[in-house]
Amino acid sequence: MMNVLVTGGAGYIGSHAVKHLIEQRHRVTVLDNLDRGHRQAIHKQAAFEQLDLRQTQELIGVLNKHKTDCVMHFAALAYVGESVTQPLRYYDNNTAGTLSLLRAMDATGVKRLVFSSTCATYGEPERMPITEDLPQSPINPYGWSKLFVERILRDYAAANDDFAYAALRYFNVAGSAADGSLGEDHEPETHIIPVLLNAALGKIPKVTIFGDDYPTPDGTCIRDYIHVEDLVDAHAVVMAALKPGDQRFYNLGIGKGHSVKQVVEAAKAVTGVDFKVELGPRRPGDPPQLYADASKIKNELNWQARVTDIRQAVENAWQWFKQHPDGYGA
Ligand code: UDP
Repeated sequence: MMNVLVTGGAGYIGSHAVKHLIEQRHRVTVLDNLDRGHRQAIHKQAAFEQLDLRQTQELIGVLNKHKTDCVMHFAALAYVGESVTQPLRYYDNNTAGTLSLLRAMDATGVKRLVFSSTCATYGEPERMPITEDLPQSPINPYGWSKLFVERILRDYAAANDDFAYAALRYFNVAGSAADGSLGEDHEPETHIIPVLLNAALGKIPKVTIFGDDYPTPDGTCIRDYIHVEDLVDAHAVVMAALKPGDQRFYNLGIGKGHSVKQVVEAAKAVTGVDFKVELGPRRPGDPPQLYADASKIKNELNWQARVTDIRQAVENAWQWFKQHPDGYGA
């Protein structure tokens, strides 16, 4: 049993992590500024501290108060497009926010961190599937804001032998809690699976496929969709494995890709709704293919994703969307 501080615990992935940790009998404190998180997503059995990561002094108080053993750090802004138009906001929230968190951890002697990184740190990699040792060269400020943190972590760990961290590089996170208690509620919603389900619900008139002239088998982009419950399970496994001095880097994906057209078909099959789909131009900044080589975490920690059928992720998300058409809002 550990005392775990989950930053961003009111957000999509963070709230799933909190649920999982509590089910594993850890003592959890949620830290969230509720800028984009949802108060209703905060687990009833978690302590809650409404705070911004950049409030270092208050953060020191929180880490002490809850006798924190480990931090799982999800809190971040995560829209690639927004990071291009508002780069300072991304570097401030994501990079400076994490720096403040590390200073608070340093001041209080908290020596374990599991950090949400991203496959966006690889940019447009030269090879597929993506292994952890490929060069990291982001193509947008979001990716850079996370890669800078990885850099800071390497330097901090090099100077502090007893510190341990893992940087987990997520691919496309999808689905929601199988019991329907939690889900995805973003404003604006741009991710493909929620967009498809909103179309199935009739909340939006149609879905646009962003380009079908990519060099892929059906011409649409390929991504690696990992179920959010698998993703948070990997966090718990990594946290348990962290030993003083560890610096671990893992891709979190299922190790295979699905095309946009395949995801559209899965959403139509799951919902039974033949919503309107049209073809549009490419979205700037979309690499044709991104999928993980997921073997490193399998070899080192014997962990792999259980859900590899895209329909199951869509099915869980659909339960949530049907039951909560207005998300956490209503
Ligand atoms: N996509 C699409 N139409 C949409 C939203 C997304 O065709 O309305 C495509 C997008 O171009 C990408 C894939 O779906 O190839 C996944 O996009 P998403 O925004 O979900 O995640 P990303 O891979 O950009 O993080």
